[in-house]
Amino acid sequence: MQRLINLFIDSRAVVLKTIPFSDTSLICRIFTKEKGKISIMAKGAKRKKNLLSSVLECGNIIRLQYMFKENRDIQLLKEASLDYNIILIRKDLEKLLTLFSIIEILDKTTHPLNEAPILFRLINSTIKTLAVKKLNSKILYNFYLLHLAIQNGFKPNITNCSKCNTLFRDKIVLINGQLYCQSCDNFNSKLIHENSLSFIKKLMYTNINKINDLNVNDINLNSISFFLEDYIRYHIEGMNYVKSTSLLHKLSK
Ligand SMILES: [Zn+2]
Repeated sequence: MQRLINLFIDSRAVVLKTIPFSDTSLICRIFTKEKGKISIMAKGAKRKKNLLSSVLECGNIIRLQYMFKENRDIQLLKEASLDYNIILIRKDLEKLLTLFSIIEILDKTTHPLNEAPILFRLINSTIKTLAVKKLNSKILYNFYLLHLAIQNGFKPNITNCSKCNTLFRDKIVLINGQLYCQSCDNFNSKLIHENSLSFIKKLMYTNINKINDLNVNDINLNSISFFLEDYIRYHIEGMNYVKSTSLLHKLSK
């Protein structure tokens, strides 16, 4: 008989979703550095005077200790505290809706117990950057979408047409998750402009700490978001079920 593994784990995580369980407890879905997405039970967290319920709010970056049992769907939380203060995000509606979108996208596009330390690093640094004052959250949102696609193995080919291999210039179309030049498009698909594509290229090679310095004059950041969301929807299962993004787009109009 195989021995089941029980581990006491001290980790950092991002809270994806929290739901009440019984009169006093909470069940949270979190994304951890070591184990990827897991569910934890916080017993007694809903009791008055227990600060855990505010620690376990969606979008928080937390430090936690929990018992990990391999055969259990829900792990038992021992302790949790805030690892990073994101109060600035919660005071700003656009930042808050951006936070909910990036959190929900990660939640819907990942499977439980799929170790992905790079995705953890991406969500962790995205949230921390979002908390920076005067940060353009639209640039950051696009950065996140692009790097999420790349980390899942779907780096978009933004230099050549996927059909005829011609170098892109002027306008480009997205068909079935591939980028085509305008002459290869028989469907009159949605076009994206070359300057949006060069901006995506910049996002590919710019450090997250420097994205706010990028020049966004004449760049339609909303259309880039729509493009990247469409792109991910085609390649990554689960993106279709994301709802928060529609609220974010309503605000951006
Ligand atoms: Zn072509």
